[in-house]
Amino acid sequence: MPSFRHTKIVATLGPSSNNPEIIHQLCCSGVNIFRLNFSHGNHEDHKHAVENIRQAEKTLEHPIAIMLDLQGPKLRVGTFKNTVVPLHVHQKFQLDLDPTPGDNNRVYFGYPDIIKSLIPGTDILIDDGKVLLRVDELFNDRLTGTILSGIEISDRKGVNLPSVCLSIDAMTSKDTEDLSFGLALGVDWIAISFVQTADDIKRARVNVPGHIKIVAKIEKPLAIQNIDTIIEAADGIMIARGDLGVEVPLELVPSIQKQILKKCHFWGKPVIVATQMLDSMITAPTPTRAEVSDVANAVYDGADAVMLSAESASGQHPVKAVQMMDRIIRQVEKDPQYLEKIPSQFNENVCSPITSVVPQLVDRSRASIIATISFSGNTALRLSRERPNVPIVALTFEEHTARYLCLVWGVYPLQIHSTNCYSVEDWQKLIRRTMLETKLTNSNDKIIVVGGVSTICQPSFVSVIDS
Ligand code: PGA
Ligand code: MN
Repeated sequence: MPSFRHTKIVATLGPSSNNPEIIHQLCCSGVNIFRLNFSHGNHEDHKHAVENIRQAEKTLEHPIAIMLDLQGPKLRVGTFKNTVVPLHVHQKFQLDLDPTPGDNNRVYFGYPDIIKSLIPGTDILIDDGKVLLRVDELFNDRLTGTILSGIEISDRKGVNLPSVCLSIDAMTSKDTEDLSFGLALGVDWIAISFVQTADDIKRARVNVPGHIKIVAKIEKPLAIQNIDTIIEAADGIMIARGDLGVEVPLELVPSIQKQILKKCHFWGKPVIVATQMLDSMITAPTPTRAEVSDVANAVYDGADAVMLSAESASGQHPVKAVQMMDRIIRQVEKDPQYLEKIPSQFNENVCSPITSVVPQLVDRSRASIIATISFSGNTALRLSRERPNVPIVALTFEEHTARYLCLVWGVYPLQIHSTNCYSVEDWQKLIRRTMLETKLTNSNDKIIVVGGVSTICQPSFVSVIDS
């Protein structure tokens, strides 16, 4: 298995990469999951993306997952007569409900309920915090404030209100439409933006079929307060450092990242570190030293996946960015210290006496691979939490399980066709045959087989076999 890597790569598609050729190249360079960012592009673009990815998946004969990232309640200002207007510090500026194009004194901000819920002194951050507007006075249909920092403002820039607990649903009407469109296309993961509570996930789940997995994007201060219940409710977590770095003081982001990585490990949920990982590669063919360190540290801290955003969606070097990420991950994974600090504390729902002995068995038997047959993906996930130092090959009859597992650390999902397996011996035979056919093991390799019967959720046996 020459190309095996434990940590997975998520790449966002966009105008720089959404065509069959680049998608094929991105897959060959190591992308495991594509993110379709529904904050940008139209339904036609996303439909093409799904077709292109499925084509690449078929050609390359290994599962590739698709994550639909819903825009969520991202607040935005309206447009300006001249697209962009200059600002100066201490000037007055107005946000109002008048949809006509703005100028250097005012702009449309179409959220009457939010205007009503603010108080004088509230800080409004615009364009990822580049502009700071402090509220002076509030009226029914507008607010006026003073610009405390910023040099310009332009069309449809994002607005963050870090100090305000917004009483808005994480799913907007656009999200509901995008969700049903994406589900019909056959996406595998749904990412919910601006989650604040576990209820946001539970409400979204009502409209999502059981086999589709949900990622909670952590980018609001309230989500950090409710992190344990959110992790429990979601199937995966994204540390969305873009908005997070505007919503909380920037210097808090690294410690929040480390804390969430630890908690996800405790709860046994896959976690993605996202945004600005190789940001300078949007224009440059090589990243900065600091960016390389950032990716490496996320891997050292146990991330299941690292993510590219604009680098692969709208940057000039999408393929090089993926190749770079792949190289950084492989280098970290070669370091003997990498797996030394495997946290051994798990929530009891994640532990299983069978999977917990597997890393030791790998050492003792010198097995080159762990193999399991997984229906829901549960056994593979439990094995992943133990962070063994050999690949976990998850054979599954279910296409959606194979794609779900693309995000999970250390798991190499493989779809197989249904056969009758009634006993441990049947499973061992099937695994041996598949390993030989796919050349995942050599003839004298040892394989650790972990399995269970489909009627119970826990794995029930482990054995060591020869290939
Ligand atoms: P976005 O989410 O790219 O959809 O904003 C990621 C982030 O905020 O970091
Ligand atoms: Mn975001």
